[in-house]
Amino acid sequence: MNHALEIKNLSKSFYKKQASKGFFRSNLVEHCAVDNVSIVVPERKIVGLVGESGSGKSTVGLMSMRLLEPSGGNIILNGTDITKLSPEELKPHRAQMQIIFQDSYSSLNPMMTLWEIVAEPFVIHKMHDAKQRRVKAKELLDIVGLGSVFANRYPHELSGGQRQRVSIARALALKPKVLIADEPTSALDVSVKAQVINLLHDLQSEMGLSILFISHELSVVRSLADQIVVMHRGRIVEQAQTEQIFQNAQHPYTQSLLDSIPVLNPHLRRRRSFQSAEELTAKKPRLPKDSFINPENPNLAQVSDNHFVDAEPLEGRSL
Ligand code: ADP
Ligand code: MG
Repeated sequence: MNHALEIKNLSKSFYKKQASKGFFRSNLVEHCAVDNVSIVVPERKIVGLVGESGSGKSTVGLMSMRLLEPSGGNIILNGTDITKLSPEELKPHRAQMQIIFQDSYSSLNPMMTLWEIVAEPFVIHKMHDAKQRRVKAKELLDIVGLGSVFANRYPHELSGGQRQRVSIARALALKPKVLIADEPTSALDVSVKAQVINLLHDLQSEMGLSILFISHELSVVRSLADQIVVMHRGRIVEQAQTEQIFQNAQHPYTQSLLDSIPVLNPHLRRRRSFQSAEELTAKKPRLPKDSFINPENPNLAQVSDNHFVDAEPLEGRSL
């Protein structure tokens, strides 16, 4: 199977100033936000990247798009290593990969009509004449379920779900192969959330997209993702096919994420094993005897086909 996007041993450190005793002196303290993360998004598949807030998910998404420079590692898009390409060299590759964010309101220019917003990538990439751009923008508004009647409206006239559809339409304008969706439904009401997830699911199969879907909620990615990668404090702690994660999670952190999914029907509610942070971090992942270490990523032990788990306990890991 070909890989649409492959990130290999990606790391990112931020340096924060920490005031020291001397008035003028300040120390730069390294903070490793992403630590040696490798993820493959196969062609026409959806990979869910989950973990609590601050675990490094957005940093991975931004680096994959080269919107943020990695401290180490490689980004391979459709077989081309784009890690070191200059902005000019990157341009054709950038069209193949698009990103959408949670906060669609701030990413839509309030002064532009919706068709102008959707057609903007054509202007940037000098594609089509003015008339064609308008026609194609209307088609895209149709594809995301808004209809061309929205073409002359402005972002402030839309609901949150409709605005997210506009962001998706614009992201699809250049027919990308890879879409990175960073918490695209986190700001939406439950019913609207489901509609946007269904839309992404339909678009994925109709357009053959490969999607890295970032979310802090495991429940959101369940219906969508083929595989799930779980991050904690900048590292991958577990990765497997979606149903493996839900039925056979090995890592205590994944298990705690599963336990935190709200279950509305009290008869179906699992007995919660509330674990303190100390209990959680002291636990060692349960590894079958025949698991072996993955040479590509020595932090991860292989539990079964396509199922990997961080073999180290969480304790002693600094944020
Ligand atoms: P997530 O998307 O999982 O919530 P992020 O990738 O946004 O996590 O952040 C991971 C960590 O990196 C956090 O501790 C955050 O404070 C830090 N971080 C993210 N961006 C920056 C930045 N530009 N400068 C300094 N620290 C950052
Ligand atoms: Mg984030």
